[in-house]
Amino acid sequence: MTQATRAVPLARPYLDEREEELVLEVLRSGRLSLGPTIDRFEEAFAEACGAPYAAAVSSGTAGLHLLVHLAGLGPGDEAITSPYSFVASANCIVYEGATPVFADVDRDTLNLDPAAVEAAITERTRAVVAVDIFGYPCELGPLRALCERHGLVLIEDACEALGAEYRGQPIGSHGPSAVFAFYPNKQITTGEGGMVTTHSEDEWRLLRSLRNQGRADDGGWLDHARLGYNYRLDDIGAALGLAQLEKLDRILARRGAAAERYTRLLDGLEGARVPLADDAEHRRSWFVYVVELEPDVDREGVIAVLEREGIGTARYLPSIHLQAYMRERYGFAEGLCPVAEDASRRTLALPFFTAIEPDDQERVVEVLGAALAASG
Ligand SMILES: *Cc1c(COP(=O)(O)O)cnc(C)c1O
Repeated sequence: MTQATRAVPLARPYLDEREEELVLEVLRSGRLSLGPTIDRFEEAFAEACGAPYAAAVSSGTAGLHLLVHLAGLGPGDEAITSPYSFVASANCIVYEGATPVFADVDRDTLNLDPAAVEAAITERTRAVVAVDIFGYPCELGPLRALCERHGLVLIEDACEALGAEYRGQPIGSHGPSAVFAFYPNKQITTGEGGMVTTHSEDEWRLLRSLRNQGRADDGGWLDHARLGYNYRLDDIGAALGLAQLEKLDRILARRGAAAERYTRLLDGLEGARVPLADDAEHRRSWFVYVVELEPDVDREGVIAVLEREGIGTARYLPSIHLQAYMRERYGFAEGLCPVAEDASRRTLALPFFTAIEPDDQERVVEVLGAALAASG
């Protein structure tokens, strides 16, 4: 990297004085946990995605675990999920002793292919964990119909999809319980944190109890109605989240504009395919910008060039079933999900965040272009 060029990170949170102000308010209030900021964050979040109820949790993973727990999954049960995702969408099944079953993804959307899900159903199947990968909504309509037909619980891993829309309505508003995540690379952040949206008041109460060591609404601090967890978000995180939500529209608009800019800059570049465009039913919320390299491109070579130039990249995403612990535990191997495995070998995330500078995007594409030319 020459001195004139600056490093471009893969991701970076978008924070300003408002976060500082609201966090400081919480610090000064002395209510660092189970305070009123949590309720305010939950209400604002539920409104933002058109869900009647939202329960804040300590991470997206914790939210997924609670939904699998509430679905009653246990040893001997199977849940179908996507191999092309972050490991949490499968781990939540494993936590309860149930068996993850991977159905292949659609070549274009990289989300679960409903036909593959249907084909993977057995008499042990109890649930489907569908992921909105890279913020592109999964096939909610067909998946819901299929789950209803077979008596399965549908859980939506929307951890990458805050602000996305399916059939004109926001993710979270459709009915299936959905989980969102607020790690610092997501659309909005609370440091660590997550949120579960639900359309059931009973489920919402259970979620709030389970995250809080199984305490009941009306019980005392040392009364535990059920086995619970410490999956609470604290009020400092909630203050961050509130400030982030206030500017959600701006965040989504800036990310959309940055994605459009990349797509324009990449137009005509040989060797890299841009992300799938929206259609009438799917409106993506831009979480990451992932290109698909042509089969003959040496991905490791391209990554080496980008890294040398100080440009952040990532191999989003390895297939979950091929992770070492999954192979060991369940005997999964290559060939189980060919579409996902092929995507895993060829996809590459470029630096992408709310305040990415157009100049930096131009340089990323320039360097990528040179790397592709060299490796093709
Ligand atoms: C970020 C993410 C999660 C949850 O991540 P946490 O770090 O636990 O908040 C789950 N699934 C997917 C697909 C994600 O991208």
